[in-house]
Amino acid sequence: MAKNLIIGRHYQTGDALQIEWDNGVISKVETLEIIPDGALTIAPTLTDVQNNGFAGYDFQRDDITKEELLAVRKALHQHGCSRILLTLITDQWDKLCHRIQYLNEMIKASPELSETFIGWHIEGPFMSPEPGFHGAHPPEFMVPPTPDKVATLRKLTGNAPLLLTMAPEWENISEGIRTARDLGAFVWLGHTDASSEQIEKAVIAGANGFTHLGNGCTNALDRADNIIYRIIDNPKINTCLICDGIHVSPLLFRIMHRAIDEERITYTTDCMSAAGSPPGQFKVGPHIVKVGEDGIVRQPGKPNFAGSSLTPLEGVFRAARMLDTTPEKVWHRFSDRFTDHLDLPPLWEAGNPADFCLLTGSDSARQVDIYIRGKKLAEHTFRP
Ligand SMILES: [Zn+2]
Repeated sequence: MAKNLIIGRHYQTGDALQIEWDNGVISKVETLEIIPDGALTIAPTLTDVQNNGFAGYDFQRDDITKEELLAVRKALHQHGCSRILLTLITDQWDKLCHRIQYLNEMIKASPELSETFIGWHIEGPFMSPEPGFHGAHPPEFMVPPTPDKVATLRKLTGNAPLLLTMAPEWENISEGIRTARDLGAFVWLGHTDASSEQIEKAVIAGANGFTHLGNGCTNALDRADNIIYRIIDNPKINTCLICDGIHVSPLLFRIMHRAIDEERITYTTDCMSAAGSPPGQFKVGPHIVKVGEDGIVRQPGKPNFAGSSLTPLEGVFRAARMLDTTPEKVWHRFSDRFTDHLDLPPLWEAGNPADFCLLTGSDSARQVDIYIRGKKLAEHTFRP
């Protein structure tokens, strides 16, 4: 197959960028000393670090098949996302471990699945069982992050990137966090009402982020001192925000961007199986959830949201809209910033798949063309 190349404006620096590829694999990435054509931006495909299911498929389902995961991969590609941390939520401990083992064997045996499902986000069971803070997670299955349990999760996930969400209220939390860090896993805090002192202790032990800041907490927060303020106030904690404009209101989203250092912010969908599907009734593990025309995911009869139906690419445009800026300006928070926060490998390197997005059009309508392995797979149009 002939050598292919694309030249455009680097989505972040604005410099002329050239990507070359052979047979769908990047052979060279370089910055050129020319003035780039201003009409074409090249951006990396997106990375979603909290993804519970997609395109109708729920990762908590114990009979999910390889073919279904391949269908998820295809649907993610169509929405501009080439890598996710497969996210599993709280369940009875043995069931959770069995689920990880089942999925891991399937993923490891398939180069295609390994390319998309690059690692794990185990959200629970090391979180708060308190009302309002456990969210959609069953509180009866919450357990403390003992070194034994943390080591079991590491063993089940092999050497793949592993992110654990924990609440610092647990006794001996420092030991659990240190064990995770020693074994190469990352710890983010979340579903917690920890005090500033407990948060600081967790940071000293090695926690470096917060899972979906603004969610996983009660609706009735103390206006003078609450978990959102405590995290914003700690400059050593990175934050990940669900950028659908629903989980974090546009007002709070903007306030957070003013109050938190730019380098500390990333985005996720926290999506469940409804993402990339029409509205309706879906299953997330044992829970039945409903997705309305408004795209909001609810557990019937409960006030909390239960994941989102946001797609990654839509997330970039919603974030840009809420901040009244361009998608180029926010794109890194949904892509290569995870190289810094979670030590994920960079996307644009020789030997990697030639996956990228091309942005064209005016401020009134932006077109995004998605290229996977050097071939155009999908196109989307976004209006402000
Ligand atoms: Zn959560």
